[in-house]
Amino acid sequence: MRQADYIIAGQGLAGSCVALHLLMRNRRIIVLDDDYPQAASRVAAGLFNPVTGKMPALTWMADDLFTYAHEFYAKAEQLTGLSFFYPMPVYRPFISDEEQRLWLDKSRGPRFARFIQKVYTHPVFNDEVTNPYGGIELRQSGYVNTSAFLQAVRNLIIREGLFILERFDEGALKISAEEVIYQGYVARGIIICTGINTTGLFNFLPVSKLKGEVLLLRSNCRPKCIYNRGVYVVPGVWKAGATYNKHDSESGITAAARAELEAGLQKLIRYPYEIIGQDFGFRPVTPDRRPLLGRHPEYRNVYIFNGLGTKGVTLAPYFSAQLVDFIENDKTINQEADIKRYIFR
Ligand SMILES: Cc1cc2nc3c(=O)[nH]c(=O)nc-3n(C[C@H](O)[C@H](O)[C@H](O)COP(=O)(O)OP(=O)(O)OC[C@H]3O[C@@H](n4cnc5c(N)ncnc54)[C@H](O)[C@@H]3O)c2cc1C
Repeated sequence: MRQADYIIAGQGLAGSCVALHLLMRNRRIIVLDDDYPQAASRVAAGLFNPVTGKMPALTWMADDLFTYAHEFYAKAEQLTGLSFFYPMPVYRPFISDEEQRLWLDKSRGPRFARFIQKVYTHPVFNDEVTNPYGGIELRQSGYVNTSAFLQAVRNLIIREGLFILERFDEGALKISAEEVIYQGYVARGIIICTGINTTGLFNFLPVSKLKGEVLLLRSNCRPKCIYNRGVYVVPGVWKAGATYNKHDSESGITAAARAELEAGLQKLIRYPYEIIGQDFGFRPVTPDRRPLLGRHPEYRNVYIFNGLGTKGVTLAPYFSAQLVDFIENDKTINQEADIKRYIFR
């Protein structure tokens, strides 16, 4: 039997961040992933942006999450020796004088100060973006090339642990008080990070699928910002997105999503680009839009990390650290993210 400290099932953003934290602690890990091409982490545009929503507000825990994510991805680049983390301003054009005034007010308060680079009351970056009322330039934002990140982490796992390109079959898992046994492998614990494929052990958790589609672009431009209003365009990976459709659970791209994104792009972007493709995936979302992490109520050595929803890039680094600290050092998990909130007994 091959021994390890932990088995990780699933190597999307959730599993990759858990794996990195465990490798940083010199733990021996075995990671299984079936390389599903439509996994959210492979399709994602990789944007991280502290101000989101139709009525824009700072995202949940922005102060903690963004500082942590910057440090984490920079360290991950060092460890893997590869590049995938690109801090870059996000520019959000205003759509009215009223909105401009609102943001001028907000920018004077301490709450937003560290996330706002500048509020413009007149059009800027005119050859790149439509912004008749000016807009807001955000900092602490940017993108992660998620495919490159997953590959970099996989290389490290192969170098320092064991990677198995295979579907994890929960039926083959044997759990005892001291260890878990999976096929020829024995470990102290298992962490399940399989996104929308929630397994039977955790079927009491309310993870649902939120479909998203992105357009794949080509452009020779080097825009100054990630432009974001209705749609966003992430240069480098050249993805424009994303749609949110909770009523469509069918696999495949749709003409409706293409039309929606194309219309958004035409309104927003003024630099030349070409649409060369389209992709789709399903985000693992929870009813309260908070992640899911913690220990199985019956099996002490079985854990889950899931529910990253629309913001995996910023949630995964911070909450994977929290989960690993919980597993290894008995530290507490944020109550809003702990799976205990869905355990009623
Ligand atoms: C179109 C779209 C755009 C998005 N854009 C952004 C964005 O710009 N910024 C952002 O922060 N977030 C974005 N997201 C959300 C982000 O992708 C998710 O929050 C995140 O990827 C979820 O990661 P995960 O690891 O939990 O799940 P997944 O990405 O689904 O990863 C699960 C992994 O487990 C593997 N797996 C599943 N079942 C098994 C099994 N039984 N055995 C072995 N392996 C298994 C899969 O192959 C996969 O590799 C986007 C999502 C979509 C769909």
